[in-house]
Amino acid sequence: MQFKDVVGNSETKKALIHEVKAGRVSHAQMLLGPEGSGKLPLAIAFAQYLLCDQPSKTDSCNKCPNCLKVSSLTHPDLHFVFPVVANKTNKVGSSKDRIKEWNEYVLKQKYFNLKQWQQSLDEMGKNAAIGVEESRQILKRLALKSYSGKYKIMIIWLPEKMNPQSANKLLKLLEEPPESTLFFLVSDNAEYILPTILSRTQLIRIPSLSVDNIQEYLTKTYKVEAGAASSAAGLSQGNMAEAIEILQGAKSQHLFFDLFVKVMRAAYTANPIELMNVSDEAAGLDKENQKNFVKYGLHIFRESIILNYMKGELGNLRDEERDFLNKFARFINNQNITELMTEFNEAHYHLERNANAKILFADLVIKLTKLIKKGV
Ligand SMILES: [Zn+2]
Repeated sequence: MQFKDVVGNSETKKALIHEVKAGRVSHAQMLLGPEGSGKLPLAIAFAQYLLCDQPSKTDSCNKCPNCLKVSSLTHPDLHFVFPVVANKTNKVGSSKDRIKEWNEYVLKQKYFNLKQWQQSLDEMGKNAAIGVEESRQILKRLALKSYSGKYKIMIIWLPEKMNPQSANKLLKLLEEPPESTLFFLVSDNAEYILPTILSRTQLIRIPSLSVDNIQEYLTKTYKVEAGAASSAAGLSQGNMAEAIEILQGAKSQHLFFDLFVKVMRAAYTANPIELMNVSDEAAGLDKENQKNFVKYGLHIFRESIILNYMKGELGNLRDEERDFLNKFARFINNQNITELMTEFNEAHYHLERNANAKILFADLVIKLTKLIKKGV
C-alpha cells in the first residue's frame, strides 16, 4: 500500500515522510483519530515507505522486493496485532490465529471498523480483545532477526482493546524497545489506553476525512454512480468505514429489488424458462443474501398490503420501489397474502437450516405463479 492509495490526509503523509528525511523516526507512534479516518492504511503505507529500497520524496517505489512484500502483507518484518475473540477450546487467542483472514480482509477492504472485521469472521457481538497470549507472541515475533536489515515494524490496531496484563507487557517493551523496532499504535479512542503508554508514544492526530475525499474514493473503488457515492459520503460524517457500509447496504437493496421484480414478472407471465432463470439467479446469491432476499420479499409484500388497504402510508420505500408497487401492489391482496407470507417465511426457515437453495427457489417460484394468479 502506497501513500497515494490512502485517501486525503496529505498533511499527515508529509509529516511522516519528514520524520524519515530528518532521521527522527520515533520508535513508538500513536496514530489517533476517529473511526474510518484511514489510520490503518496510513500506518501500512508508512511501513512500506520505511522498508522501501528506493523511496521517492513523496512515496515508496512499489517495485522493489520490500515494497512488493509489504503490498501483499507478506513482509517478514511487518507484524500486525489486533483484537481477537478467545477460542473455545483453550480460552486464549492471538492475532496469529486470524492472520490469514486479517491479511485477506485488509487487502480487500482497507477501511473498516471492529464491527465489520468481526462480521467478516462471523463473530458479531463477541468480545474481542488483545490478551496476554498476544504479549507472548509479540515477544516471540520481535525476537526474530530483521529480514530486510532495516526496521521490524509492529502495527497494533486498536490498542484500547488490550487487557491490563498485555498493556503492561507492551509498556515494558515501549520503555526498553528491541533494537530497530518500531511500534505504530492505531487507535480510535485514547480514553481506554494506559496514560503511561500514551506518554511513551509520539502522538499523531488524524482528522476525519472530508465528504469529497470519501465520495471520490467510493466512486473510484466501488464503481458506483456519483449520486450513490455522494449520499453515502454525506451520511457517513467523515467515516470511510461507515460510508462503505452504507453504500453496500444500498447496493444490495438495489440488487434485491431488481431480482424481486424479475421474479414477480416471471411468476405473472408463468414463462417456464424465465422462472428457471430467476430461481437460478436467487440460488446463485451467497447464503446470507439468499435469506436477505427472502426477507426483502416479505418486506415488499407487507408494503403492498399497506398500499392497498391504508392508502398513503408508505414509509420505508425508495423511489424505484414505490413506482413498482404502484403497479404491482394490486396483485397482492386478501386472496393470496397469507399464503405468500407463509411461503416466504418457510423459505427463510429452510434456508436457515441449509436447505438446497436451487430446489428451494425453483419450488418457491412455481408456488408464486399460482399465488399471483389467485390475486389477479
Ligand atoms: Zn520500494
